[in-house]
Amino acid sequence: MPIDSCRKYILSAVALILTALFLFDGSANAAEPTDASDFEDSGFLWLVNAENTLPPSYMPQNLTAYNRVRIHPAARDAWVLLLEAMQADGIYGLHLHSAFRDYERQEYLFNQKVRRYRSQGHSREDAEALAVFVVQHPGASEHQTGLALDVSTTGQLNQSFGETRSGEWLCENAHRFGFIIRYPKTKTHITHIIYEPWHLRYVGLPHAPILYEHDLTLEEYADFLSVHAPYLYLHESGERYLIQYTAGLPDPMPGDVIDISGTRFADNIYFVTASRIRDPLYGSYETAGKKNCLQ
Ligand SMILES: [Zn+2]
Repeated sequence: MPIDSCRKYILSAVALILTALFLFDGSANAAEPTDASDFEDSGFLWLVNAENTLPPSYMPQNLTAYNRVRIHPAARDAWVLLLEAMQADGIYGLHLHSAFRDYERQEYLFNQKVRRYRSQGHSREDAEALAVFVVQHPGASEHQTGLALDVSTTGQLNQSFGETRSGEWLCENAHRFGFIIRYPKTKTHITHIIYEPWHLRYVGLPHAPILYEHDLTLEEYADFLSVHAPYLYLHESGERYLIQYTAGLPDPMPGDVIDISGTRFADNIYFVTASRIRDPLYGSYETAGKKNCLQ
């Protein structure tokens, strides 16, 4: 057998064994099959950017109010845990500046930015080109999903936040709670958005730690999973996760699915994430070191 085919064969076999180990672990709390429609609006890996926009009418169904902002409940719960951990490390003063932003608000902010550039003498075309690097086109902001958070200690959103204690702590720890720094300094050529150390995006577990450890943006993740799935991940808590990259939805749907994402990445391609409870024999897990968001 040629070496390449042999390698592929071995990788496939390893993936199958990992999947089998995950699925047949003798867990006593097998749940009922999950209804895929529960996840219609809540794909945590939902990619929203200039190429993948949301319609003006899109409004998440399950927003919740928290400290004068509206936010996805999963992002709120993770944010509360993150703040507790941050304060346990002696860092205070970070607050949620904004989260959900509807299409009209995005339109207003974009036009405001264009007007500012035009008042500085730029043509409309130039003003829009400059604005889009700082403020997303209406419909291209992931704030419309309720999964994006702008956070601040001063009430201002600026890049120097990345060098503050809060900014550095977020860079090193946000992934542990399911958040990524969505627009890192070193990836502007991929995101086409300026470095925004204040903008967190909830993608959930285990995706945030995987993105962090592999230094990936959400734009790059679909390709990564298409190569590496089924992907088994052991979280620092000892909880085990399995990510499947599937054409069509599994039938029957496993009962322990926690997220289905992907209908908006490509037709009929899904990321199906399942979790299994902590293995009581599982020991401590070393997390990866600092990543590029501090550079
Ligand atoms: Zn933001």
